[in-house]
Amino acid sequence: MLVILHPDTEEQSENFIETWHYLESLQGIKLNKHDIQGNQQKLTEIYLLGDTHTLDKEEIECLPAVERVIRISEEYRILGRHKDNLLTSGFTYNDVRFDQQGLNIFAGLCAVDNPQHVELMMKALKENGQQCTRMGAYKPRTNPYSFQGHGDTCLPYVFELAGKYGIKVIAMEITHEAHIDEIHECLEKSGNPTGVMLQIGTRNTQNFELLKAIGRQNTYPALLKRGFGITLNESLNAAEYLASEGNSNVIFCLRGMKSEYGLPHRNLVDFAHVPVIKRLTRMPVCIDPSHSVGTRELAPDGLMDVMHATAQGIIAGANMVLVDFHPAPTKALVDGPQALLLEELPVFLEDVQIAHEAYKKRCALFS
Ligand code: PEP
Ligand code: MN
Repeated sequence: MLVILHPDTEEQSENFIETWHYLESLQGIKLNKHDIQGNQQKLTEIYLLGDTHTLDKEEIECLPAVERVIRISEEYRILGRHKDNLLTSGFTYNDVRFDQQGLNIFAGLCAVDNPQHVELMMKALKENGQQCTRMGAYKPRTNPYSFQGHGDTCLPYVFELAGKYGIKVIAMEITHEAHIDEIHECLEKSGNPTGVMLQIGTRNTQNFELLKAIGRQNTYPALLKRGFGITLNESLNAAEYLASEGNSNVIFCLRGMKSEYGLPHRNLVDFAHVPVIKRLTRMPVCIDPSHSVGTRELAPDGLMDVMHATAQGIIAGANMVLVDFHPAPTKALVDGPQALLLEELPVFLEDVQIAHEAYKKRCALFS
């Protein structure tokens, strides 16, 4: 059962305290409170978990802080839409807004290799008006002898350079819960020059203990990648693990599915699912054209497949793009062959803009 409070209800207010006491006294019911900061107002939702069948909906609706009560039995209790399209979605992190309406580009290095390349990347982003990036420090690799990422040793210069070039959010994959503390300590030590969005890679989508650990903290939002060999429902349940532990600042990322049918791409591009996820859940939807397509192949029309795939995701309403760039792809330690060049950043961003305008025109057409 979902209890929605009147907008901007303060936790110290009498109405809140009375409502909370009542709910707390319900036998066998666990409370899970979520605050959602919208552009205009703060919305508080309280999830009643447990056997809610015997609860009196009308009685709860009469509590002073309560606006309305929704019975939810479907999956994705917290992140789902539950036939209520008006529910607020999205969040603001480090002054950057993430929701199902906006669009944020995270262009950057698949794997951090050295400070020079990080600086060239950050500088190019700043020159092109960008405030987000991706930087891989902990790399999950298929082959145990492959480069595993520099780990926490590279964090000090990555964060310092991000601050220097005005980068506000870095998407960074973690593969173990200890990495949350490593990132946190390094950010604190360097005076929080930037922010981090914790990325859960496709190989860890169902690493439930990792999901629970990321869900238990609220400092960093999470970017969950769809599992490459499981159903969409299973991946959405994995996202719900984060929310069920208390962190509903979650973005869901499509990155292609493992399939021989995907050839000649690295994965079968699944960006037609962008609107599906927006319909099923309140999460902003990210696309990763780099790990989907996996090459720099050109189509006869002169556009790279990776740019075509990006445009397809955006024209279908994607809210975030995670994309590999590198100043010298032949020297990249991971995924060089799919990286775009820094010289290609302006045209990439322009192409993104064209697709986003087209999406907005399409929405207007049907509104
Ligand atoms: C990545 O984004 O660098 C990555 C490893 O992606 P995925 O988990 O989708 O393979
Ligand atoms: Mn990669």
